[in-house]
Amino acid sequence: MITLENVNKIYSNGLHAVKDVSLKVNEGDIFGIIGLSGAGKSSLIRLINRLEEPTSGKIFINGEDILSLNKTELLERRKKIGMIFQHFNLLSSRTVEENVAFALEIANWNKKDIGKRVSELLEIVGLSDKAKYYPSQLSGGQKQRVSIARALANNPDILLSDEATSALDPKTTKSILELIKAIQQKFSLTVLMITHQMEVVKEICNKVAIMSDGKIVEQGGVHHIFADP
Ligand code: ADP
Ligand code: ADP
Repeated sequence: MITLENVNKIYSNGLHAVKDVSLKVNEGDIFGIIGLSGAGKSSLIRLINRLEEPTSGKIFINGEDILSLNKTELLERRKKIGMIFQHFNLLSSRTVEENVAFALEIANWNKKDIGKRVSELLEIVGLSDKAKYYPSQLSGGQKQRVSIARALANNPDILLSDEATSALDPKTTKSILELIKAIQQKFSLTVLMITHQMEVVKEICNKVAIMSDGKIVEQGGVHHIFADP
């Protein structure tokens, strides 16, 4: 569960990117935040994993005040938050299996457990036959599958998605959304995704918040918000 209470972010240049945002993402939600470029969506997601500090407000993850965590505690909690991005953020000099293994290495997994876990993860995302490939040898959809495998490596309970399908064609987008939905159910994940694509929200989210100029201007059930008149 993710709770934000009156969160503000004002960058050092004075730009007020997130304005008094309050929202609650419940366990098992696939919660979409939709808005135009510049609305403040990325800032919001960076606040949630504390890559940025809010100027004011409170942020709780599974009931814990994350702003009170020290550095060691924060690194520990971040393992339980998987993250996927528009441009995948894979290491180009490492193979698929090495990219996934990397997430386990930095989390101090035992060397002998890593190989087995990597195989398991590649199986989940349907890429077992591409283990030895380099990212440059994969399609966009396959690259996103690798990054999903990496995001799941440490058994997270939260998945944050930053425009994960924005670089993909409609057919690939659909297959990635189906994968996200499947892993959400299989591992009881809470998913928060930011997107500028209405179709994505309609396809997969149960809740949505509309963000504009730093503010949440509307939020609720997808069917309620997008109900035809
Ligand atoms: P979105 O993800 O919806 O496109 P962002 O959160 O990236 O929105 O940006 C919101 C606003 O904050 C924009 O005006 C952007 O230029 C500004 N912004 C983002 N990051 C920074 C930063 N590090 N310093 C100053 N302004 C920033
Ligand atoms: P898409 O149709 O999704 O755009 P591509 O046409 O890029 O995908 O790739 C189709 C298939 O060819 C994929 O299975 C991908 O793994 C494989 N492939 C693409 N580029 C290379 C490459 N340079 N070396 C080996 N296999 C590749």
